[in-house]
Amino acid sequence: MFELKPRDIAKCLQLLQNGEFYSIHEPRFKKEDEDTVIACIRSTFVSYVSDFVKIFESELSQYLGAKHVVAMSSGTAALHMSLVGAEIPHDSEILLPSLTFVATANAIKYVGAHPHFIDSNTDDPNIDVGYLREYLLHILTIKNGQTINKKTGRAVSAIIAVHIFGHPVEMTELKKIADEYNLILIEDAAQALGSIYKDDKCSVIGDIGTLSFNGNKILTTGGGGAVITNNEKYAQRIRHLSTTAKIPHKWDFIHDSIAYNLRLPGINAALGINQIRRLEETIAFKRTLSQYYQNSFKDFKGLTILHEPRFCRSNYWLNAILLDANCKTSIQEILSCLHENGIFARPLWMPLHQLDIYRDAPRATMHNAERLYQRIINLPSSPFLAEGLS
Ligand SMILES: *Cc1c(COP(=O)(O)O)cnc(C)c1O
Repeated sequence: MFELKPRDIAKCLQLLQNGEFYSIHEPRFKKEDEDTVIACIRSTFVSYVSDFVKIFESELSQYLGAKHVVAMSSGTAALHMSLVGAEIPHDSEILLPSLTFVATANAIKYVGAHPHFIDSNTDDPNIDVGYLREYLLHILTIKNGQTINKKTGRAVSAIIAVHIFGHPVEMTELKKIADEYNLILIEDAAQALGSIYKDDKCSVIGDIGTLSFNGNKILTTGGGGAVITNNEKYAQRIRHLSTTAKIPHKWDFIHDSIAYNLRLPGINAALGINQIRRLEETIAFKRTLSQYYQNSFKDFKGLTILHEPRFCRSNYWLNAILLDANCKTSIQEILSCLHENGIFARPLWMPLHQLDIYRDAPRATMHNAERLYQRIINLPSSPFLAEGLS
C-alpha cells in the first residue's frame, strides 16, 4: 500500500505554472483569428448562411480525410443530429460507456432511445472491449435480423465509442462487434480532434463521428460542434434536418419535416478556421506537455500519468494522474491540497449510471468505472503551458 504526499504533487505542478492560476484547458487566440472574425462581421453574413461555415467545413474535411462535415452549434447538437441522421429507432437501446460527459447519454434521450451503460478498462476510462464482447454474448440475441436485449425485450440499435481525454478506443475490435450485431457505430470524438487510431483520424472510423468546439476543447469556436461521415445519405439528412427541413425555393417557405435549427453561425466558424490550420502545431505542444508530466511524475510511487494506447497517436486533450489501485491516498485529499496551492485539478465525471437521472437505465456490471472515478485526477492541460518546455 502506497501513501502519496499530496504536497509533492502540488510542488511539481507549481513549478510548471510559475505562480499563475490556469483552468483545466484554456484557449489562446492569434491575430489571424481576430482578423477572420472581423472579416466575417464585415461580410455581414454572420449566420450559418456564410462562406466562413463552408470554409470551416471544407478545411476540417480535408484535415480529417472525411467526405462530409456538417458544422453544428455544439457537440451535443452534433450527437443529437448524428442519431437523427442514422434514423435510430424510437425505444431502442444504445450502448455507451458510463464514464463520459453527460451529453453523450442526453442525446440518446432526445431521440426517444435508451442509454445502456457499459464498463471501462481496468486502468483507463475507455470502453473495455473484451468485457463488452462477453457481456453482449450473454444479454443479446438476434431475432429476424434484429438485435434484441433479452432482459428488456428492446432492440439494440447502436454503440457510441467515446475517446476519453483524446486516447483512441480499441476500434478494430469494436467495429467487429458492431458488424456482428448489426449496430451503427458512432464515435463521440468531442475530446479527440486530431487523435489517430492506426491510420485513421478519430471521428472517421465509425459510421458517424461527432466533434465539439466548446471553449475548453482543443479547438474552440466559442460553442460549436460537427458531424463527420462518409455516408452520403446520413450527411444529406443531417444537413436538411438541422436547418428546419426547408425545401430550397427562391421565396416560398415549405418544410417537409418537423426539424431543428442547430447549425454553427458563420461568426463562430470564422474563429475556428485558422485553428484548424494550426492544429498539428497545437497537438505537438500538447504532446510536449504530456511528456513533461510523464517525466516529472516518473519517480512517484503510487501513481502513473495516463498515456496513449499502442498504435495510436493521442491529442492528449487532458492529462490525467491515475492512482494505483492499492494507493491509500484519496483523490479528495490530493484535490483539496492542489486547490489550496492554487492549482486547478478535477476528478472524472460521476459515472452516468450513478446519476439520479439515469438510475433506471440498463447497464453492465461496473467492475472498473466506479473505481476509476476514485482514481483519476485531470491536470491543467492548456497547450501554451508547453511553450517554455521541450
Ligand atoms: C464536450 C463534450 C461533449 C459536448 O460538447 P458541447 O460542445 O459542450 O455540447 C460531448 N461529449 C463529450 C465526450 C465531451 O467531452
